[in-house]
Amino acid sequence: MSWGNATANRSRWTDAEISTLNRLYEQKKSAAEIAAALGRSEGAIYQRISALCKSTRQNKGRVRPCMCCGLNFRSEGFHNRLCVKCRRASADLY
Ligand SMILES: [Zn+2]
Repeated sequence: MSWGNATANRSRWTDAEISTLNRLYEQKKSAAEIAAALGRSEGAIYQRISALCKSTRQNKGRVRPCMCCGLNFRSEGFHNRLCVKCRRASADLY
């Protein structure tokens, strides 16, 4: 029943905390400042940031099918779901 409770309480991050961390990190705040803002240890912040960077890196340059034509292409990131051709075509619409 209580498996992992102690560790979960110590390491569990809420969505709000993660988005605060993301925001502060993007504002180039130091780990110490982020730690103070979230009431967590600097170590926990470093851990979270490196996990964040790793997942960003994993998303970067991943081959995925284009949402438009289904062709596999190298995505530049999670925001990038269209191949170059389709992106160019949709950019023309704006
Ligand atoms: Zn496409």
